[in-house]
Amino acid sequence: MTAAIYACRRGIDTLLIGHIMGGQTAWSADIENYLGFNMITGPELTAKFFQHVKKFDDDNADFNLEVIDGGEVTKLTKQPNQFLVELKDGQHTLALSVVITSGKNPRMLKIPGEDKLLGKGVTFCATCDAPLYRGKEVAVIGGGNSALDASLQLIKIAKFVHLVTINPKLEGEQVMIDKVLASAKVKVYYHTETLSIAGDKVVNGMVVKNKQTGQQEKLVVQGVFEEIGSVPAVDFCKDLVKLNQYNEIKVDSHMRTNVPGIFAAGDVTPVPFKQIIVAAGEGCKAALEAHNYLARLKTVKG
Ligand SMILES: Cc1cc2nc3c(=O)[nH]c(=O)nc-3n(C[C@H](O)[C@H](O)[C@H](O)COP(=O)(O)OP(=O)(O)OC[C@H]3O[C@@H](n4cnc5c(N)ncnc54)[C@H](O)[C@@H]3O)c2cc1C
Repeated sequence: MTAAIYACRRGIDTLLIGHIMGGQTAWSADIENYLGFNMITGPELTAKFFQHVKKFDDDNADFNLEVIDGGEVTKLTKQPNQFLVELKDGQHTLALSVVITSGKNPRMLKIPGEDKLLGKGVTFCATCDAPLYRGKEVAVIGGGNSALDASLQLIKIAKFVHLVTINPKLEGEQVMIDKVLASAKVKVYYHTETLSIAGDKVVNGMVVKNKQTGQQEKLVVQGVFEEIGSVPAVDFCKDLVKLNQYNEIKVDSHMRTNVPGIFAAGDVTPVPFKQIIVAAGEGCKAALEAHNYLARLKTVKG
């Protein structure tokens, strides 16, 4: 969104395509490190970001920004002198330059039942969905900070939390680990893998297996929160731009990818310290570099 604002304010005809507007920021419960806000929730901050973007979109004659809210890019390819951007719903557009800020998607377990029950009890966002599980039994899968954060949110809402980790111990901030372990509403399953998620129309259980004993168990839960990390969202461009060993888009200090005209910024790149303010700053840089690139093509005023 930052890149889009900078681009349109530089006089570039800009199209912002966002699958789930707000991205990971919306998953965060409490944000205390974004300048200007002592404390703000992720959904509140993303709503403010989007409101700001819309100011440039809504019939604003001074700026040419169009937003496709909910649009998912499925393919980015190079055409002679421009790029073809294809969307899942069949729309497509041509662009002289592209700034990729697709961030990260939740890592999936790829187990039976997961795909079918996505959004029907299987979720990746405790901040968004925990309130739906008031008084219910839920499972959290994972053993790091995200899983701990999800568990702590759910303790306040759900009836009981089954925290399932494949590891021998919980890993993350000690203060969060201590809180989780101190709660009578959490049972931690160590050395345990999740085999499948059960349910017809909605989740009604989950099968787990202790890797040490080989014993399988069905947990009766109505919600499954998967918190096993995230992967760069590069499916649509992985055949075009160079990636590093973590599937992040390689960029130089000017946010340039290996393809002239394509820039990338934020969590989808190897930038250290993956934070909102870093992603916003890098998005700004990428848009300004795109402007310079277009200026060299003499399509906009330099
Ligand atoms: C639980 C959690 C808590 C966090 N807490 C904090 C915090 O307190 N402070 C902080 O500074 N940072 C925090 N972070 C990190 C911060 O959220 C990220 O660094 C930041 O959101 C990265 O922004 P981004 O725009 O690069 O990527 P993302 O936030 O991942 O956004 C990517 C955007 O691209 C869209 N997209 C992806 N693929 C496509 C496609 N094919 N077509 C169209 N659109 C697509 C997505 O839908 C999304 O809108 C937290 C992260 C998590 C997961």
